[in-house]
Amino acid sequence: MTHTPLGAHSESIPTMVSHDDHPHEECGVVGIYAPGQEAARLAFFAIHALQHRGQEAAGIASCKDGVAHIHKGQGLVSSVFNEDNLSTLQGHLAIGHTRYSTTGGSGIRNAQPQVIETIDGPFGVAHNGNLVNAPQLRRELLERGIGLQTSSDTEVIVQMLAGAGGDWLSRIRVLMSRAEGAFALTILTRDAVYGVRDPWGFRPLAIGEIDGGHVLVSETCAFSTIGARFVREVEPGEIVKLSDEGLHVEQGAVPKKRAFCTFEQIYFSRPDSIHVGNLVHSTRQRLGRELARESPIEADLVVPVPDSGTPHAVGFAQESGIPYTEGLIKNRYVGRTFIEPTQQLRDAGVAMKFNPLGDNLFGKRVVMVDDSIVRGTTSGPLVAMLRDAGATEVHVRVACPAITDPCYMGVDMASSEDLIAGQKSVEEIRQHIGADSLAFLSIEALMSALDADEGYCNACFTGIYPFESERFVQLRLSPKEQFAQVWGD
Ligand code: SF4
Repeated sequence: MTHTPLGAHSESIPTMVSHDDHPHEECGVVGIYAPGQEAARLAFFAIHALQHRGQEAAGIASCKDGVAHIHKGQGLVSSVFNEDNLSTLQGHLAIGHTRYSTTGGSGIRNAQPQVIETIDGPFGVAHNGNLVNAPQLRRELLERGIGLQTSSDTEVIVQMLAGAGGDWLSRIRVLMSRAEGAFALTILTRDAVYGVRDPWGFRPLAIGEIDGGHVLVSETCAFSTIGARFVREVEPGEIVKLSDEGLHVEQGAVPKKRAFCTFEQIYFSRPDSIHVGNLVHSTRQRLGRELARESPIEADLVVPVPDSGTPHAVGFAQESGIPYTEGLIKNRYVGRTFIEPTQQLRDAGVAMKFNPLGDNLFGKRVVMVDDSIVRGTTSGPLVAMLRDAGATEVHVRVACPAITDPCYMGVDMASSEDLIAGQKSVEEIRQHIGADSLAFLSIEALMSALDADEGYCNACFTGIYPFESERFVQLRLSPKEQFAQVWGD
């Protein structure tokens, strides 16, 4: 944990262990400009509301009278911050971050915000996403004699902005013209806070209003936590400036073909957030309804895989008329941990997380609804658990298409060979998980539930990435693989 102005740490931490079979979001970001208020305190509650987007590290940087203050550390927001360290983060400007690592690694040296001193005063960046050309940009910086301390693409962004010259808006425009991939940024300078959304719009960012000031957050759910009012989502390629002149928005880069991350709607975002004008919870229920229409089955009960599969299961039950009930109880305190389990405990990982409700399941034909299947490590044990509890049939319905390809845009999905749908047919997966039947939502039904013909990424379902195909051939490595190949880390 660090609390030093502009401090950097080299301490390493053990690899984290995950107990579920979901893709993992990289980060949540926050930016606050609130005259007369303690911006860091607002940032604390905002990143607390975004905790689901990353649990490995958290940080806040603030600025007062041209001096930056920063505190960041490993772990949950509530364990990183306390009254003592929060009270040192003075000023009415602040940015905040919760981190799940993709590029770089989970060490504290990669925790954000990253803050440096420049000739124009202190300046810091919080980043959600992944630059697919980060290795090339790193090499260019090093060839220009600029030293780098961390392995994250965020430092690349920091150094590109610091070295670009001109005012901050023109520096950001230069960055946007060079960076490829996903980047939702909040940026702290001595007198303004900026927000940036990449020209594809992969990762979300929204603007809110608060008592004479403005805020930027990854998800709108954070607005109500801090008493802010939702103004609008930042559009792809836009730069937002929050300062004593109020809210200024300009187009920083020509928007590309929109590629909002579909998984924000399916799984990542909190159900009470609004994306693309729709409440996420309602969208998930529509996914469940589409699934029931597309893949009906005769059964007695619809059971969700809690908690993330719950709204999809409610939608499935509404459409199918099959009663909804809880059949699996989740231990909400089993999450990501730094403690490496033994193989025996690893095998029991699902049992650590779920218990069946035998009275509800005995003698029943069950539809188990989940939001997604990534590696296929959880579904099989859950099907077996339902059968052991007395279910006579278990039919699995998945409220998104089969995930066949990895993500390069800031989501830790898994490599191609680890994605079960990249290796097996639907029938082979059904056999693998031991279900009586299995169906995934089609792309067409997914888009119908999103009420859109286009504008979403969908690359992990289709293998069609929203970059120029020739350029992308070089990038068919995960961010970590690219990094290892170029830098041997
Ligand atoms: S590949 Fe999948 S997870 Fe990645 S940005 Fe696209 S839709 Fe989202």
